[in-house]
Amino acid sequence: MHIIHISSEFSPIVRVGGLGDVIHGLAQEQAAMGNFVSVVLPKYDVSKFSAIKDLQIDTLDLWSFDGHTSYHNTIWSTCIGKIKVYLIEMHHPQYYFNRGCVYGSRDDVERFLYFCRTASEFLHIKKIHADIIHIHDWLTSPVAPIMKCIYQNLGFQYGAIALTIHNIKYQGQCSIHNFTRIGLKGEDFRVEDRMQDPVDPNILNLLKGGITYSDIITTVSPTYAKEIMKPEFGFHLHHTLFHLQHKVKGILNGIDTETTWNPEHDAHLSCPFSIAVRSTKTVLEKKRENRVALYKQLNLQNSCAPLIICISRLVPQKNPHLIEKTIHYTMQQNCCFILLGKVPHAYPEIHKTFTKIFQQYKSTGNIYIKLDYDEALSHQLFASASAIFIPSIFEPCGLTAMISAHYGTLPIVHGTGGLQDTVIDADNTSVPEPQRNGFCFSSLDEEEVQKTIQRAICCIKQNPRLRLSLLKSGMQRKIDWQGPAKQYQNVYEQAIASKSPNKKVI
Ligand code: ADP
Repeated sequence: MHIIHISSEFSPIVRVGGLGDVIHGLAQEQAAMGNFVSVVLPKYDVSKFSAIKDLQIDTLDLWSFDGHTSYHNTIWSTCIGKIKVYLIEMHHPQYYFNRGCVYGSRDDVERFLYFCRTASEFLHIKKIHADIIHIHDWLTSPVAPIMKCIYQNLGFQYGAIALTIHNIKYQGQCSIHNFTRIGLKGEDFRVEDRMQDPVDPNILNLLKGGITYSDIITTVSPTYAKEIMKPEFGFHLHHTLFHLQHKVKGILNGIDTETTWNPEHDAHLSCPFSIAVRSTKTVLEKKRENRVALYKQLNLQNSCAPLIICISRLVPQKNPHLIEKTIHYTMQQNCCFILLGKVPHAYPEIHKTFTKIFQQYKSTGNIYIKLDYDEALSHQLFASASAIFIPSIFEPCGLTAMISAHYGTLPIVHGTGGLQDTVIDADNTSVPEPQRNGFCFSSLDEEEVQKTIQRAICCIKQNPRLRLSLLKSGMQRKIDWQGPAKQYQNVYEQAIASKSPNKKVI
């Protein structure tokens, strides 16, 4: 099968959060299964060019459209493992992808609309007739209406379009004018069963366009697939998804346990470890050695106390208010707390809160807060910590829970979305003990959260038998990409089989 991912991120070339890792892990496994896999990305000025070897020009002159004007683009190509990667350099006068950032420009909608039109034009001109065009989130959702309403009518052939919703909160609200600029008559799409925004009837919603025009919709965990059809989690798109539920499927993400997240061969760790060849007790000793090295580096003191960590984008979804409360609570309990989190510019008050709390407790030597992105430190934290705290209000998948369990760090999570699918509470007697791997709170009520943290601290300090059982279960669970990639393959096959033949749309 020829699979083309059209995406805004792809590790290691460009990674902001989990999305880049997910596309890389999935594409790599799909290629290993014998598929021919390509990825189409914008060529950002902030791409990690050191990760790219042999970048070559594939197409020097590709013309694409914005309004009544055509602009010139250069398509570069490279290979990452067995994956063919195309980078679109857009010589657009607005310098759309030379902004020193991936997201966060005021005109993100225009930037990604133009990228989607250009990526589609590229596939058409080069006659790259894939079996599956796989698009991701609102950023590349416009590819679905563009393909169905422009290129299919020009005779472009493809098997089916798959959309993965990684986070439904972000939808890409778009004016009629901006949509019209890429060559589709915006007003025609401003109807309820096409792309009309569910909140503001005067505008369009790009994610809704992906949902409406894709042949299959997946999301990144089974529980999240059910949640987004409810008003509390659907961010006003629940009706649309409920109506199209026959196309919706939840597939839990995997993680790359071979190279990126492999505690046995993790170059960031001073003391790599593995459950496969040693006893769980030895794992705890190795984790302690990593912690001692980490504390030296961060100037922390009490390496015998439980270490609770939090690694997260610090945005409202991740519940910074509850993270703040929990820092106070864990300080009172004489634990150590390390927070690693980048705060987007839009939330200066979150930055201020955590800067203040760090100052307040710094002298105890029990706290460290870094409000930035630091990949090496994240690996060291996963390896050193006793537990990770994940109080997200909603969580499509929750990679940090999976990674931490794989590194012998007990997840303490809000049981929502993918966190509910991956973390089984130590006291959940409906599941056999060897499958339980962490601690869950079912509501965000402060008292319940503190009780859950208290249960985790007690387990870490006083119940070595239970701790080792949870740790073993977390580390042994199979969470690589093999299972998810097989499920995607089945879903693709069903989508191709059930898709109506390429016929003219609108
Ligand atoms: P999301 O995709 O919503 O950001 P996930 O928990 O699913 O949340 O994935 C986040 C990924 O990004 C994890 O791999 C995590 O380790 C990484 N990450 C998040 N914040 C940081 C940070 N400040 N520094 C390094 N890695 C981070």
